Amino acid sequence: MRPHHALAAVYPGSFDPMHLGHVDIIHRARAVFPRVIVAVLQNTDKAPLLPVATRVELIAKSVGELPGVEVTSFSGLLVDFMRQSGARVILRGMRAVSDFEYEFQIALMNRRLWSEAETVFLTPNEEFTYLSSRVVKEIWQLGGDVSGLVPPAVHAALAALAR
Ligand code: ADP
Repeated sequence: MRPHHALAAVYPGSFDPMHLGHVDIIHRARAVFPRVIVAVLQNTDKAPLLPVATRVELIAKSVGELPGVEVTSFSGLLVDFMRQSGARVILRGMRAVSDFEYEFQIALMNRRLWSEAETVFLTPNEEFTYLSSRVVKEIWQLGGDVSGLVPPAVHAALAALAR
């Protein structure tokens, strides 16, 4: 087990698929934290658009070359993953007040599960505040153009996928 470094941060999420709001948060996080671990949650009870391995691959293609950024997946409790990976900070994006209640609840629960876990909220550029994976999925399913909403690798993957 690595020592828990205050400046290692994990950015957990479904990333199904990754979009430019996520990319924006990762760029902002890198300006503050030397080590940013993007971690795809393996959530078995949802019907995903893309398998976890594909999501990890697309994130790696989009931001994996940035120094200090790692991309992986995890199952089980986030705090257990953090203990193993040496991260103490949980990064979450805060788009609007509507995100607040859920995020606040999860942040307090994670701290209860591991008192050293600190959640840090980052706000995206205004142009991404309306963006979510759900919106991207809906537009894509209806045949809309998602090229300005997702990184090029995700756009290519969605274009190759049967709607
Ligand atoms: P989504 O909410 O898009 O389905 P995830 O569940 O993968 O995405 O979210 C992972 C994290 O990224 C969460 O903290 C979420 O609030 C944040 N996030 C998602 N979309 C945006 C956005 N447009 N701007 C900033 N943060 C975002």
